[in-house]
Amino acid sequence: MGKVVVSAAVICAAAVCAVAAAVVVRRRMQRTKRWEKAMAIVKDFEEKCGTPTWKLEKVADAMTQEMHAGLAASDSQGAPTMLKMLITYVSNLPSGDEKGLFYALDLGGTNFRVLRVQLGGGAVVNQEVSEVSIPLDLMVGTSEALFDFIAAELAKFVEQEGPEFQLPPGRQRELCFTFSFPVMQSSIASGNLIKWTKGFSIDDAVGQDVVAELTRAMARKGLDMRVSALVNDTVGTLAGGRYSNKDVVAAVILGTGTNAAYVERANAIPKLRGLLPKSGEMVINMEWGTFWSTDLPFTEYDYVLDAESLNPGEQMFEKIISGMYLGEIVRIVLCKMAEEASFFGDIIPPKLKIPFTLRTPDLSAMHHDTSSDLKVVDTKLKNILEISNTSLEMRKVVVQLCNIVATRGARLAAAGILGILIKLGRDKIKDGEKQRTVIALDGGLYEHYAEYRKCLENTLKELLGEEVSESIVIEQSNDGSGIGAALLAASHSQFLEVNKS
Ligand code: ADP
Ligand code: MG
Repeated sequence: MGKVVVSAAVICAAAVCAVAAAVVVRRRMQRTKRWEKAMAIVKDFEEKCGTPTWKLEKVADAMTQEMHAGLAASDSQGAPTMLKMLITYVSNLPSGDEKGLFYALDLGGTNFRVLRVQLGGGAVVNQEVSEVSIPLDLMVGTSEALFDFIAAELAKFVEQEGPEFQLPPGRQRELCFTFSFPVMQSSIASGNLIKWTKGFSIDDAVGQDVVAELTRAMARKGLDMRVSALVNDTVGTLAGGRYSNKDVVAAVILGTGTNAAYVERANAIPKLRGLLPKSGEMVINMEWGTFWSTDLPFTEYDYVLDAESLNPGEQMFEKIISGMYLGEIVRIVLCKMAEEASFFGDIIPPKLKIPFTLRTPDLSAMHHDTSSDLKVVDTKLKNILEISNTSLEMRKVVVQLCNIVATRGARLAAAGILGILIKLGRDKIKDGEKQRTVIALDGGLYEHYAEYRKCLENTLKELLGEEVSESIVIEQSNDGSGIGAALLAASHSQFLEVNKS
């Protein structure tokens, strides 16, 4: 009898063990399946983001073609072209002899800066900067609120100045307004806003003259200042770059958004023919964020990003290469992995579902994590997305995603630069002569995301070949746009004669 009970108990225990073992095996199989599914998503994404050399060459050629088309259309009322190729009315870049006290305001995408620069005819004698981040509510509020904020910051800056910065009676303070959104200029110091980009959406400012808006806001604050130039950051960077290096022919911004400007021959611009001397030059603001080509490797995730953005269907080049969007692309991919492959377990982490929670600086911090256990990735996932208990394998996958997105962006940015070099005829060595070409690069993405920067530079070398690359230099501009803007305020000063004397 006792034997029977014991045997039954043994059988029961064995059965329980077998069931438990089966559960463990099933769970393990489930985990393996989920992992495989997640890896399939990553692999598919990586393939679709591919930027082989031949593809980049096609992108560069398309960029050159669109530059031609945009220039040709600049005087017609025909169908709008993809690249606006805007005339900036900057035809003389600063000579370097500029003198005096000038101001620059810089409204980019994330921060607003006020600068005061004392130019000593060949050198910057003194400069001071104040920077604040643009309050999010002002990016989608009213025109008056945004311009009042700008004027108030400027007034605060001027009020704190010492007596050494007071100008002689009758002499107005002059400034250059660096306004980095697409503007159709009608002169060096006036221009109407075409549209907002980079997350701004203020309807009543579209179509308005931004200098007039700023002038009215300054008057409301009792500021007696004159806007002598209106430029964007690419033009400021180009002017600043040229001041320190005569070989600078183009400038590219890789920050919240992206854009490029370059020096064009005046007679290549139909609208200017006959207005400028044949040998004249004109800086063209490409607004290259609008560029699009069938060879751009868009994925389903990019379309999700585009659909949720404030400007669907617009700024497609900007949306795959610039700082505002790179973190968001990775978030969308991780979200799909969580939803379809339970990458982070049975529950989708709620924070992961919120657009723009993962920012590009977080991406670069994770991408640059050199610790053996990827501690930075672990901390970022915990602090930003509230995802804990990730395995090292999972963290490696996150880094892989950062790499895929940054590599695609940087390689496409390099292809864009090649497009400009082709347009300028500087992508090849002519008659055995090595003409030095410098491109000024600026923006928080380029400055702080080392892997992105390295990849861009290596890709440009790959595209140009060793020999040509030797004479083409990318120069990081050290706050070139601010100095450049002050120089442009000086070279367009109404007191120019006084400066010269
Ligand atoms: P803006 O483009 O607004 O004028 P910046 O040139 O300073 O301003 O660029 C800011 C952008 O640069 C941020 O929106 C961000 O996308 C990117 N950025 C800033 N810091 C980093 C970083 N550490 N790593 C990667 N990207 C960064
Ligand atoms: Mg900027």
